[in-house]
Amino acid sequence: MSDRLPGFSTLAVHAGAQPDPTTGARATPIYQTTSFVFNDADHAASLFGLQAFGNIYTRIGNPTNAVLEERVAALEGGTAALAVASGHAAQVVVLQQLLQPGDEFIAARKLYGGSINQFTHAFKSFGWNVVWADPDDIASFERAVTPRTKAIFIESIANPAGSITDIEAISTVARKAGVPLIVDNTLASPYLIRPIDHGADIVVHSLTKFLGGHGNSLGGIIVDAGTFDWSTGGKYPMLSEPRPEYHGIRLQETFGNFAFAIACRVLGLRDLGPALSPFNAFMILTGIETLPLRMQKHCDNAKAVAEYLAGHPAVASVSYAGLPSDKYNQLARKYAPKGAGAVFTFSLKGGYDAGVSLVSKLQLFSHLANVGDTRSLVIHPASTTHSQLDDAAKINSGAGPDVVRISVGIEDKEDLIADLEQALGT
Ligand SMILES: *Cc1c(COP(=O)(O)O)cnc(C)c1O
Repeated sequence: MSDRLPGFSTLAVHAGAQPDPTTGARATPIYQTTSFVFNDADHAASLFGLQAFGNIYTRIGNPTNAVLEERVAALEGGTAALAVASGHAAQVVVLQQLLQPGDEFIAARKLYGGSINQFTHAFKSFGWNVVWADPDDIASFERAVTPRTKAIFIESIANPAGSITDIEAISTVARKAGVPLIVDNTLASPYLIRPIDHGADIVVHSLTKFLGGHGNSLGGIIVDAGTFDWSTGGKYPMLSEPRPEYHGIRLQETFGNFAFAIACRVLGLRDLGPALSPFNAFMILTGIETLPLRMQKHCDNAKAVAEYLAGHPAVASVSYAGLPSDKYNQLARKYAPKGAGAVFTFSLKGGYDAGVSLVSKLQLFSHLANVGDTRSLVIHPASTTHSQLDDAAKINSGAGPDVVRISVGIEDKEDLIADLEQALGT
């Protein structure tokens, strides 16, 4: 073996996986078992005391899931990862290690709608207070910092319009405030953007989207960059203080630059319980093997569709960072030079009725509430996901009555454009 480091596509196929040591199976087997037999009583005790690594029970870890964890950690350039049942579960488990009741975290206002709900309602009931900031105004993050701030949360490519966030600028704010920067990298995937290279301390994903990539399995993952010092100032007691249930060990002291991933597993996943099914881990691993091929095709198709829409007489505007005229194009060139992703919005001159008409006439584009599938997807937020908001709130969240969001798939771009052509009318 040469000592060259493997490239991204090689890691996407191989990282974390080896032929099965007992059967020789080349694909990663689905270890569909709840529990694992101990060698003897001493082995059992050392596993429970965190003195040895090994499998105990699938809620805490599973060999199929472990391959997925190692693979995504390698693709993101992190030290370790933890797979969980969904993207939302990843967000709960991360923040549970960082916040005590009464604490605050700062979140970018432009986020996946489900995250806005989770932060506003569910987290409030835990005593975790979200403070919103504007990702287009870095100073708004600085102004939001208080002594109770424990983290900053942003999306790399943000919902719903596919805008690009200046990760490095917000990482500087986080560093100054002495708190970790958490980046939701779902819409970019590590093929387009590796947030850790730009100063992220923790990366989260909904594996349900581009990483799994086929619209068939829910999953989430947390990647530890290994960059944050959890011991300073007693701000993060879950990591810095002795853990009574583990013979008084301190996780940061014992596990160093992967202590956060360990905390998420042995405190978060153990106690909250959102474990990923090994079957879903297998499906998502299979998806990741083709991530570089799919993601490039998603981006190339999205650019062609955005260009077509920008020239269509029924279209008022297109918000796609890959277009040279877009306000996020400069940031896209810096952070996502291979492509600006495949999820974006456009607005129709015909307003609400034109949006409803478009989604009902499209045939290749499926009308549903998801993104990151091989298939092209479309939704009219004002009549669906955002229908409960008043008009001002719809417009503020980028879901005005005239706005349509699409997630461009990997079909032939000529067919996608022909479908839009017949549905828009001429
Ligand atoms: C879908 C999504 C989530 C939530 O993930 P689930 O797997 O549906 O729980 C979080 N963030 C972003 C950007 C998403 O697209």
